[in-house]
Amino acid sequence: MLTEDKKTRFRVYEEKRRILLVEDDIVNREMLKESLGGTYNIVIAETGEDALSILRTQYETISIVLLDLNLPGIKGVEVLKRIKANPAYSHLPVIVMTSEGEAEVECLTLGAIDFIPKPYPPSKVILARILRTVELSEDRDILRVTERDNLTGLYNKEFFYRYAQQFDLYHKDTKTDAIVLDINRFSTINERFGKACGDEILKRVAEKALDYVNEAGGIVCRSDADTFMFYCPHRDEYEAMFKEMSDYTGGTPGDYRIRLRMGVYSDVDKTLDIERRFDRAKMAADKVRGNLSKPIGFYNSEIHETEVLAEQLIDDFSSAIREKQFAVFYQPKYNIRGEKPHLVSSEALVRWNHSKLGMISPGVFIPLFEKNGLIQELDRYVWSETAAQIRKWKEEYNVTLPVSVNVSRIDLYDPELTEKLQKIIDGNGLCAGDLVLEITESAYTENAEQIIERVKNLRNMGFKIEMDDFGSGYSSLSMLSYLPIDALKLDMHFIWSAFGERKDTRLLEAMIGLAALFKLPTIAEGVETEEQVTALEKMGCDIVQGYYFSRPVPAEEFEKFIKKAQ
Ligand code: C2E
Ligand code: MG
Ligand code: MG
Repeated sequence: MLTEDKKTRFRVYEEKRRILLVEDDIVNREMLKESLGGTYNIVIAETGEDALSILRTQYETISIVLLDLNLPGIKGVEVLKRIKANPAYSHLPVIVMTSEGEAEVECLTLGAIDFIPKPYPPSKVILARILRTVELSEDRDILRVTERDNLTGLYNKEFFYRYAQQFDLYHKDTKTDAIVLDINRFSTINERFGKACGDEILKRVAEKALDYVNEAGGIVCRSDADTFMFYCPHRDEYEAMFKEMSDYTGGTPGDYRIRLRMGVYSDVDKTLDIERRFDRAKMAADKVRGNLSKPIGFYNSEIHETEVLAEQLIDDFSSAIREKQFAVFYQPKYNIRGEKPHLVSSEALVRWNHSKLGMISPGVFIPLFEKNGLIQELDRYVWSETAAQIRKWKEEYNVTLPVSVNVSRIDLYDPELTEKLQKIIDGNGLCAGDLVLEITESAYTENAEQIIERVKNLRNMGFKIEMDDFGSGYSSLSMLSYLPIDALKLDMHFIWSAFGERKDTRLLEAMIGLAALFKLPTIAEGVETEEQVTALEKMGCDIVQGYYFSRPVPAEEFEKFIKKAQ
């Protein structure tokens, strides 16, 4: 069992509040220390200068200021003015202690919240006033952000980050871990068993998570849908904690096994933004996504290097667009239904010819840009370049060869998507049929209805839609009957596993058959050998794309395929 370390247990409301007592008179000081010391931690300032310098460094842990007006050096009224003029701590409640009736009005105008008259009233009166003031001011703070997640009762992300920062302030020398816990394929659980069941699982995770922080110290929140974040005193291993959480939440519903995955950024660097620390934990969690034998990932030097590279690529993005470092390559697609394979279209695939790092494959930067939204700008660039290229080929070779471009999920949420595409088409004198849109299967899994609506619009405009990477996501086969698509691109892994070591083409055959049932042509990508082409042809596959015919090549090089086809 965990050993309890009182020092590292953290409840914001269990910590003793700190009062800054600004008072030069030793007798008064001792008296107030005596009456308040049991309930509060008292920080003493004997002069106004002292008080301001303490505030500068410690304002975050101070809950209230008790200010004597009659001070040597800077006067109390001036101290009050300066406190209220500094945005970092102007929100701190200040109670003024005075025997001079007239100063009261001035102090209230300046922002003091209450008075304690001298000679002092009984200590329980003082305590009650302070308590009420502290509560009022904290409530006001809390109201600014809704603190808790409705479903689980845990903190929400915004509040959690604030509390994590406070945790640091109270535990400067405590090694701390940032942890992200996710439920694998949570959307599938919701879809298969209903939202109520999904909610139940989230509550169970929350319950156990709270048990954990109650015992180990630290705080926890539900940050979004199925993601929980912990900020806790460091420990070397998380196997036991993870097992306990999994055992508690893993059994339901029916025979479906719910699996968790966890990412730990151990002994965080406290100079980093709090969000950044949790980004690191998230990266560690993503690293073990789908890895059932290793559900706990730790942030390590390998992830760190990826992070550094990612930062560099993001920094370099704008200049790369300006300097046209992104090149569009084209890979031919061949129809294999006729006597001889013939060129029917191609796919535009972007590459980054980075000024310092050389050629970078989209597998590296696309997922990154999809995360931060830069993909929209990049895609727009690629679509424009591609449209210009189609026009050029039209003019030079008098051919109409549709080219497909990739459309990211994020693009589909862009309200101006249709206008942007229309503009690109019009600007190059093309029609919608010249540009085919590849939309990856996984784009349909979230907000399916909204996405389907958008894709329908695009189709109504005349664009042909190909569903990319079919079979890699988890969209149900029944969706095929109502999705607005014109062709299915089978995910490469299908081809590879069908023709792999344990050759078994049954699944591939079934897929092609199914597509035919829905009158959808199939495109096989990742086709590398003649044997595969022959087999696919027999199975009824329509179009083939892959290294067997050609790798993606620069536009000039692609022209040889056009010439050959003429
Ligand atoms: P994708 O759209 O499924 O593209 C097919 C990928 O398979 C390409 O990788 C292509 O080079 C590769 N490929 C084609 N034939 C073969 C083969 O026979 N064997 C093997 N091993 N691979 C083959 P690439 O160019 O690295 O692109 C990777 C992914 O990046 C693409 O997958 C697509 O999702 C994304 N992508 C590429 N360009 C763009 C773009 O302009 N915009 C967006 N949003 N995504 C892009
Ligand atoms: Mg594609
Ligand atoms: Mg694909």
